[in-house]
Amino acid sequence: MIDYESVLIKHKFKYKKAFGQNFIFDDDILDEIAREGGADNATVVEIGTGAGSLTRAIAARAKRVCSFEIDETLFPVLEETLADYDNVQLFSNDVTQIGIDTVDMLVGEPYIVIANLPYYITTPLIFLFLSSTECGSITCLVQKEVAERICAENGSDFGALSACVQSVGKPRIVRKVKSWEFYPQPDVDSALIRIDRRQDAVYSERLYDFIKLCFIQKRKTLVNNLSASGINKNDVTAALTELGFSASARAEELGAENIRLLGIKLGRVPDRPETPEERR
Ligand code: SAM
Repeated sequence: MIDYESVLIKHKFKYKKAFGQNFIFDDDILDEIAREGGADNATVVEIGTGAGSLTRAIAARAKRVCSFEIDETLFPVLEETLADYDNVQLFSNDVTQIGIDTVDMLVGEPYIVIANLPYYITTPLIFLFLSSTECGSITCLVQKEVAERICAENGSDFGALSACVQSVGKPRIVRKVKSWEFYPQPDVDSALIRIDRRQDAVYSERLYDFIKLCFIQKRKTLVNNLSASGINKNDVTAALTELGFSASARAEELGAENIRLLGIKLGRVPDRPETPEERR
C-alpha cells in the first residue's frame, strides 16, 4: 500500500484549487471506480493523474492506461507512485487545449475514459470525449447535482445538458460519493456516473445548437422558444402534434429522443451522422 500523502509531502507538493485538485486515496473506492468503469483488459484514458492513486487502481486491471496531467509538479511524485506499473503512459498535456483528434492519435486505438475529473471543466471534458467515436464509455466523478442533471430523463432536472449527453450516450449514476472521501474536501458531494456510447449515436453540433434553442428560456413553451429564434410557430405546433405533444409543451416534457425528432421534422437536425466537413 502506498502512503500517497507522505510522498506528496516529501516532494513539497502544494494543492492547487485552480486545477480542481481533490484527490482520493481510499483503495476500495478507487478499485470500485476502475471496476465499474470497465477497466478490465481495456485501454483507458484518465484525465488528471493527481498522485496516481486512481491510475494504479486502473492499471492493476487494464491492458494500458494513458493518463493526462496538467500540473508538472506532480511528475516527481508520479515517478515514485507509478514505478511498479509498466502499462501506464503519462502525458503532460491540458486535454482541453490539445483537442480530441490529438488525444485519439496519442492513444492510437479505441479506449474508454475513467477519471476523477477536475470540477471546473467537467462538462467540456465530457463533451470532448463524447465527440470521439474512439471513446466507448466515460466513467467519471462529477458534482452530485451535475450527475443528476445529466441522467434526468424528463422533469425539472432535465435540461440542455441532459438532452445533449443522452443524444450520444446512455448515462447512469453508479454511486454517490461523500465530500469527505476527497482530500482536500470539496464543498459539494459527488457521484460516479458512467456514460456508454449508444450504438445509434448521432453526434451533431447542429443537434446541440437546436437543443440549446429549445431550452433557451426553460420555463417558456417550445413554441415560444423556437419562434423567438425565427422558426415558424405553426411549423413547431404541427411537428409537436405529430409527435403527440400539445402546442404548450415545454422542452423538459419531451425527453432527448423526441427533441431530436422535433429538430429533424423542423429541418434543423440531420437524420444521419454528419460528415466531418458538415461539422462546423
Ligand atoms: N486522479 C486523481 C485522484 O483521483 O486522486 C486526481 C483527481 S483531481 C480531482 C483532478 C486532476 O486533474 C488534478 O491532478 C489536476 O491537476 C488535473 N487537471 C486539471 N485540469 C486538467 C487538464 N485540463 N488536463 C489534464 N489534467 C488536468
